[in-house]
Amino acid sequence: MQFKGVIGQQDIKDYLLNSAQSNQVSHAQMFLGSEGSGNLALAIAFAQYLQCRNKGVEDACGICRSCIKANKLMHPDIHFSYPTVGSKAKSTDFLTEWRTAVAEQPYMNVYQWLQHIKAENKQGNITREECEAIIRKLSLRAYESTYKVLIMWMPEYLGKEGNRLLKLIEEPPDNTVFLFVAENSNLILNTILSRTQQLRIYRLSDAEIAEALVAQHNLTENKARQVAILAEGNYNKALELLSNSENDNQQLLISWIGACLSNQSVILLQWVEEIAKLGRENQKNFIKYALYFLRQSFLLQVGQMKTTALSNQELQLAKQLMEKMTLEHFESVIQLLDEASYHVERNANPKILFLHLSIQVMEHYKDVR
Ligand SMILES: [Zn+2]
Repeated sequence: MQFKGVIGQQDIKDYLLNSAQSNQVSHAQMFLGSEGSGNLALAIAFAQYLQCRNKGVEDACGICRSCIKANKLMHPDIHFSYPTVGSKAKSTDFLTEWRTAVAEQPYMNVYQWLQHIKAENKQGNITREECEAIIRKLSLRAYESTYKVLIMWMPEYLGKEGNRLLKLIEEPPDNTVFLFVAENSNLILNTILSRTQQLRIYRLSDAEIAEALVAQHNLTENKARQVAILAEGNYNKALELLSNSENDNQQLLISWIGACLSNQSVILLQWVEEIAKLGRENQKNFIKYALYFLRQSFLLQVGQMKTTALSNQELQLAKQLMEKMTLEHFESVIQLLDEASYHVERNANPKILFLHLSIQVMEHYKDVR
């Protein structure tokens, strides 16, 4: 994987490129970032860059012998370590599965990985045997490059076995680089944490996620934005939303508001039937999208919205709503949706919930009309 395949994160890319170009690569780094931030993808791209024989200023060449092996996760001097199942298991026991999983989805979370290796209900682990294997591997000379790199994904799963690695991290053989890739520093041994340089990987912006969805999954800009808003900076979540949600939240919102404002109870009843069938996750997502959209429209109404916050299509819809709704309407619908979101989390009956919500919105609109 090259840096160009990693979404956003330009600051971190620049920092890593600069450290390699000035020969100041820290030998133990902790890529700390929440799920879907791309921390694993960054570490893999950095390892490939370090090994590349024809480095460019901004990226690995992608075509040298080193890059070709690194791209397939088969470079002999880039080692991987990750949670596995089985009390004496080593990462290499699952190497084939690892290569497929990362090639398919480098933004995966540990749960998805454990499902991929059919862990079922078993806990993932980085075992004592794995730690000993790492020590053996890294004490050998590099096969065909300057650096020996170990990428350890989710050191949270090391437990106290991690103490076996301390000496190696503290006094590594020449040109050995540890890249730890973690989500939660509270679950990592302090003894390890304190021996690494920490790189904070931030969540992606909505715009970065939307752009990646358009480029990688052929989504329209409008649909990509709807997904991005719900993904909360987590590209893995965006991909999950994509595979689970066939419904178009924007269309749902347009028909709902339209029916409420024009007092069309038959259409509203059909709408309630439709949303009740969607399942709880989709209902939560609809409410979240509706809240986002109405808050942005409200800000537009009071003249405080950044123009970039809505797509052209959304902007048109917002303007239509503003012709019909006062600030007070916006506020009350937002408040009612907030309450509905609370109840949907607590497993309220969806038909009753959405019917009640719609009647309240309708009545409130009638009152102040
Ligand atoms: Zn190369």
